[in-house]
Amino acid sequence: MIEASVKYDKKELGVLSSMADMDHEQLLFCNDKATGLKAIIAVHNTVLGPSLGGTRMWSYASEADALQDVLRLSRGMTYKSAISGINLGGGKAVIIGNARTDKSEALFRRFGKFVESLNGKYITAEDVGINPKDISYMAMETDYVAGLPKAQGGSGDPSPVTAFGVYMGMKGAAKFAYGSESLEGRKIAVQGVGHVGSYLVDSLVKEGAKVVITDIHEELINAVTTKHSQVEVVSVDDIYDVEMDIYAPCALGATVNDDTLNRLKCSVICGAANNQLENEQTHGKALLDKGVVYAPDFLVNAGGVMNCYAEVAGHAQDWAMAETENIYHTTIAILEHSRSKGIPVQEAAIAMAKDRINKIGQVKLPL
Ligand code: NAD
Repeated sequence: MIEASVKYDKKELGVLSSMADMDHEQLLFCNDKATGLKAIIAVHNTVLGPSLGGTRMWSYASEADALQDVLRLSRGMTYKSAISGINLGGGKAVIIGNARTDKSEALFRRFGKFVESLNGKYITAEDVGINPKDISYMAMETDYVAGLPKAQGGSGDPSPVTAFGVYMGMKGAAKFAYGSESLEGRKIAVQGVGHVGSYLVDSLVKEGAKVVITDIHEELINAVTTKHSQVEVVSVDDIYDVEMDIYAPCALGATVNDDTLNRLKCSVICGAANNQLENEQTHGKALLDKGVVYAPDFLVNAGGVMNCYAEVAGHAQDWAMAETENIYHTTIAILEHSRSKGIPVQEAAIAMAKDRINKIGQVKLPL
């Protein structure tokens, strides 16, 4: 029994205080010696519906980094679903490990059992490092999976829909910044040409943009340049110094930070990566002060979650595409709101998301 008079040192209670700071409902730490599974599932908020968010597999430098990532990512999912008008809460999972060497059927099935143990409070899907086969293994042990391959009755890879949403958000941001939604002739630097980045490049090239790419994996770069010989390639570090109109981060988060802010010469930032601002407050404000138009990450990359929601709610995929196309208008509305109030875009977007959660939370109160 904990005595009421016990004083807690915030540093000693790192996990719980982090949850309290970001308003998380629940964390599940998963460990299984036999399969080598080490994972964290974070349920941020379930006011609007069950929490949904992908599972990421990554070689984190430390457990603290993994924890920080899952806390931030799950909160982002709450805002993403709320601002997209869908009835889902926010959750996310991370599996600590190397996605190229540490995978096995048993590991993903064991993870599926942990997802099942939450009884639907968390629905998983794909994220960085996870592919449809991994998802299929999880689904052998739990019903709470979205984005299953189409052949298994699911909505399939959400990446093309996510890329379409980023493209529409970019056109909205261009309309706001330049007065025209056209991306023809615009120089656009795409960081990361994985699932989403490569589809985005297809749309940008088709529209006549001047595309520059980078990635840590050469074979992915080669796949893009084989398809589009006009695409320019730069090294991983040089991407920030490219003379560009638009920076499209489609790899990992926190690439807008103290270092890169002084290097980025773009007038618009719009990409698929989650948590692009290393520090929401200071870097969001810095972008506003520099006059850089920032399309909120959790809004423009919401196509994937809309696709998963269509699967969960039994809607046709056409529904997800139509909702995703609307990201164009929502992006402009948030940018205009930010300008009229003189507040950073991310702050404006989060306020809109929280407002919906608060209002619908009231509706759900018992009569
Ligand atoms: P992915 O793993 O397929 O692609 C990411 C790419 O970034 C990989 O090709 C990787 O090699 C590259 N990369 C990693 N570090 C890099 C670095 N330092 N510099 C350059 N390239 C680097 O993942 P994805 O599904 O395309 O997702 C990309 C981003 O979009 C992630 O942040 C993800 O969370 C986010 N996102 C994806 C979806 C989706 O539907 N897949 C939905 C919403 C958000």
